Amino acid sequence: MELDSIQVLFATSEAIPFAKTGGLADVCGTLPRELRKLGVKTALILPEYRGIRERFSLKSTGIKISIPLFEDGEQVIKNGEIFYYEDEDTLAFFLRQDQFYLREYLYATPKGDYEDNALRFVFFSRGVVEFLCQQGFKPDIIHCNDWQTALIPVYLKTLYQEHPLLKGIRTVLTIHNLGYQGIFWKWDIKQIGLGWEYFTPEYLEYYGKVNFLKGGIVFADKITTVSPSYAQEIQTREFGQGLEGILKKRANDLLGILNGIDYSIWNPEADPKIPANYSANDLFGKRICKQELKKKLGLSREDKPLIGCISRLAYQKGVDLVCEAMEQIIRAGFQMIILGTGEEEYQKLLAEKGREFPGEVAVRIEFNDALAHQIEAGADIFLMPSRYEPCGLNQLISLKYGTVPVVRAVGGLKDTVEEFNPDSGTGTGFLFQKPETEDMLEALFRAKKIYQKPDLWQKLMLNGMAKDFSWEQSARTYLKLYQELLEKEAGG
Ligand code: ADP
Repeated sequence: MELDSIQVLFATSEAIPFAKTGGLADVCGTLPRELRKLGVKTALILPEYRGIRERFSLKSTGIKISIPLFEDGEQVIKNGEIFYYEDEDTLAFFLRQDQFYLREYLYATPKGDYEDNALRFVFFSRGVVEFLCQQGFKPDIIHCNDWQTALIPVYLKTLYQEHPLLKGIRTVLTIHNLGYQGIFWKWDIKQIGLGWEYFTPEYLEYYGKVNFLKGGIVFADKITTVSPSYAQEIQTREFGQGLEGILKKRANDLLGILNGIDYSIWNPEADPKIPANYSANDLFGKRICKQELKKKLGLSREDKPLIGCISRLAYQKGVDLVCEAMEQIIRAGFQMIILGTGEEEYQKLLAEKGREFPGEVAVRIEFNDALAHQIEAGADIFLMPSRYEPCGLNQLISLKYGTVPVVRAVGGLKDTVEEFNPDSGTGTGFLFQKPETEDMLEALFRAKKIYQKPDLWQKLMLNGMAKDFSWEQSARTYLKLYQELLEKEAGG
């Protein structure tokens, strides 16, 4: 199939610049643009959240859709309308439905998840399919992302199986984080529009409930996740979060493709958010970045290896290990800066640590993009003690900024950081096996030993800075996957 005739529709609940809560938005905003550079025709479809309506001027396509749902046991018809936005490198469609999407947040308020999330994303997934039923634009592939759009492959192979306009459309489902599956009570099988024959362990049933992501895993033509190691890990009991059986069954159609980094945003040579620019040829600016960062956050001026940590404050990220080991880290002669938001328990605990070690530990509980850039540039070491990590972006950014990653050997971290070998001078960081403070501390101590030998440390920094984790490479791998899928289709 000719490249420029491949059309891919990305169905997603978030994508930069329209809506973002996490890494999913980076992938869905960047990958379609990178694929366009390779000649693929791409478009996006998202729910029209309040923030999107406020910031973008959308035009109506004139296409209206109607979806049957249940309210208080009664069938009701909910209507929606498709809007669009277009500029030189983006075409994005939006499903407008004010009852479901005209809200401040995407999925949850600070008090918890919206109660009607099942309905909201049934409506969205089915709305995407209805949209395609109504108009001439027929993508070759619908690329779905996470549980919010995982019902699309389900619909194409069940309720809409015989629809002439949908025939031949292939689906890819990307799992960005298996920790979020879209699990709802069993009666939501009715909201989806399916009969009880699909409420079985082979299909959408999951411990007495309905699992949207599971449906997508069962019915998508191909499944991807965001690193090769994570693709393997999720087929095991330790990381499979209850879906390991079904993932193993689909192992032949499951592939890990690493996320990339947008080097037009993350590049120490040109980053306008850091106090001094620097490059592999001239590292002087990095020293200024460190000094300025320490000054800004009130750390003592003594020269110590500075550990940076930017993270969602969640159990997944191993924040508890950092808190637990803090005293030993500081006693070992490190300084530390932590930037993050998330679970209240961790926010409190970290704030306490900041007070306990004034001048040595700085804690900022906020989402602050400029400070994130400054930490990536100013720290010597970047710490990621994740319990699981589908891909991880921060370690990729750190490598580019000459900030040495110390990471748990898991998921995407394992795939992108290589243990430094002082004898051969190869490697880009330090890894530890178990999510335990002892292992983590040992890796930090290994890092410190090298830090004390400036020539070796510089070699280590430069090894990381030379790595290329740009999107182009990943986009080519996705393209290959699409081509395989379509060839299979063409060949029957
Ligand atoms: P995840 O998507 O699991 O949260 P990733 O490492 O894949 O973790 O991506 C997180 C992204 O969000 C990174 O670009 C990181 O710098 C950014 N980030 C996380 N927390 C903050 C914060 N408090 N302030 C600024 N940026 C943050």
